[in-house]
Amino acid sequence: MAAVFDDHPEIPNQFVTELNGVSVYMKREDLLHPHVSGNKFRKLKYNLKNAISEGHDTLLTFGGAFSNHIAATAAAGKECDLKTIGVIRGEELGKDLEKTLRENPTLNFAASCGMEFDFVSRSAYREKTSEAMLKRLREKFGKFYLVPEGGTNVLAVKGCEEILSEEDKEFDVLCCAMGTGGTISGIINASAEDQKVLGFPALKGDFLRPEVEKFTKKNNWEIITNYHFGGYAKVDRSLIDFVNGFKKEFGIQLDPVYTGKMMYGIFELISKGNFSENTRILAVHTGGLQGISGMNNRLKNKNLPQIEL
Ligand SMILES: *Cc1c(COP(=O)(O)O)cnc(C)c1O
Repeated sequence: MAAVFDDHPEIPNQFVTELNGVSVYMKREDLLHPHVSGNKFRKLKYNLKNAISEGHDTLLTFGGAFSNHIAATAAAGKECDLKTIGVIRGEELGKDLEKTLRENPTLNFAASCGMEFDFVSRSAYREKTSEAMLKRLREKFGKFYLVPEGGTNVLAVKGCEEILSEEDKEFDVLCCAMGTGGTISGIINASAEDQKVLGFPALKGDFLRPEVEKFTKKNNWEIITNYHFGGYAKVDRSLIDFVNGFKKEFGIQLDPVYTGKMMYGIFELISKGNFSENTRILAVHTGGLQGISGMNNRLKNKNLPQIEL
């Protein structure tokens, strides 16, 4: 097994600020690895170990064109000598691959790690785990270890249970951004009963509660649904200003898709008095910084300010 998952730096909890008597710390999971950052490292760890122990030489997974999971899987596969295949949403991206790679830093990076792509239409993407689709993929690529979209499964949740350590028991509230809910499930499982875990979905809808309930039996958690900013990867000027201001003031880079929305929500809840004085909050920095340059290309086209890197 390549060292990528076995020796990683100790992850510090960094004090961020105190507001209304509430102290805010961030767990810097973004510092785990330069390319397999944050929660994607945790989610891939036991999946890759499992793939290797089952004798697989190829990983196949799914994602959007700017997906942190696609970038992380490509990088982890490369370090572990596994071939990687990314089934990417958006048929049009495959028409002129060179142009796509020029314009899309995420796919460019994944390709540079050796990832091979299979571009599919949005409707085919919705059916990505159908028997017909898997059969087509097996015929095209041979045998592979399937890592689900966003990387969430039981082994991913097990990896995310390692985000928390014994010292984190001193915090009253643990916060985590949510996509599929796998990461927060691990955090909930590793939390103490008297800690409250708050999830901040990066997308609209309330389908996430049953997803989390698949992986945990605890009920010391709550989903805060009003900080998705219109949906997945949707941003507005106030969010961009917040992410840029946060970096200036606290020296921590957030991403606009996940951690930026979470921190915006935490700060707003504190300023509205939702937490009592002396509450200690630990927010998990789940990484995802690779997506910023792709987002900046989109912001430029919409005449919105850029995220400062
Ligand atoms: C993928 C991702 C998440 C969401 O994780 P889930 O386990 O799918 O809920 C959160 N933050 C960042 C930075 C991510 O890349």
